[in-house]
Amino acid sequence: MPLSEIDTTTYSLPLARTVSALRAQVAQWRAEGARIAFVPTMGALHAGHLSLVELAAAKAERVVVSVFVNPGQFAPNEDFDAYPRTEPDDAEKLAETPAALLYAPNAREMYPEGFATTVSLAGPALDLETNFRPHFFDGVATVVAKLLIQVGPDIAVFGEKDYQQLLVVKRLAADLDLPVEILSGPTVREADGLALSSRNAYLSPEDRQTAVKLAEVIHRMARNLEAGARISPEVEQGKHVLYQAGFNPVDYLEVRDAETLERIDRIARPARILVAARLGTTRLIDNCAVAPPT
Ligand code: AMP
Repeated sequence: MPLSEIDTTTYSLPLARTVSALRAQVAQWRAEGARIAFVPTMGALHAGHLSLVELAAAKAERVVVSVFVNPGQFAPNEDFDAYPRTEPDDAEKLAETPAALLYAPNAREMYPEGFATTVSLAGPALDLETNFRPHFFDGVATVVAKLLIQVGPDIAVFGEKDYQQLLVVKRLAADLDLPVEILSGPTVREADGLALSSRNAYLSPEDRQTAVKLAEVIHRMARNLEAGARISPEVEQGKHVLYQAGFNPVDYLEVRDAETLERIDRIARPARILVAARLGTTRLIDNCAVAPPT
């Protein structure tokens, strides 16, 4: 398919709307000997997303960024319709980064008439988010598998912000023998510690003040656990502080093995604190590392 399908006039960086346009551009870059890195997003881009683009650019000559609000990972009662869609702004932000191509397909391009395949994982996809959003990781795994096959990158970069998702994507790439290296970038936070998220835009000014407690609680827990505190009283205390602050419900606040997400009862290896809690109508997630006590 010709490169003429690439739109160079709508935004300040080139835009592909179709798989064939994307593939033509990537094939040309490959012929020039370039390595390709890929950063998938759902748009409403913030400094967290842009940090992943910079990380990708440090590893490859060409960076493709996708913006696709994936209907497959939202349940009917979730915020698919309300999810912020800011494509022109996103394109302007990306034009200021080393990104070389915006890939923004529509839902028909991704899920044509008759689409019938689901990629479904066990392992790291079991439990935590899945207990509250049962079909979420099937939706994520299916779209990420498609995107990785469409782009065919050497490297793909995901955020630690969505820690369980990161492990799911690593498992998926390994299990499907996708020839891509999955890299991760640290969570970018507001000055007060709140993890940047497209969904923070939903918070009322009052809830925005409270939201920072989520990061405060898990970081305090991490310090205490690293100093030798026991897991279960820390978890109980953390939940108590979150409910007192106004989070309701706290879907989960757990300490798990950092690599497998298996349950643990003491910190003998690197661990991860993972939390999801609702504040008003907004569901926030966050996580942080816990090193074994020395
Ligand atoms: P999303 O658009 O929310 O699907 O996120 C796209 C990618 O950006 C995912 O790999 C996320 O983990 C990552 N991401 C989201 N928020 C942040 C953040 N605050 N810092 C770093 N990466 C992030």
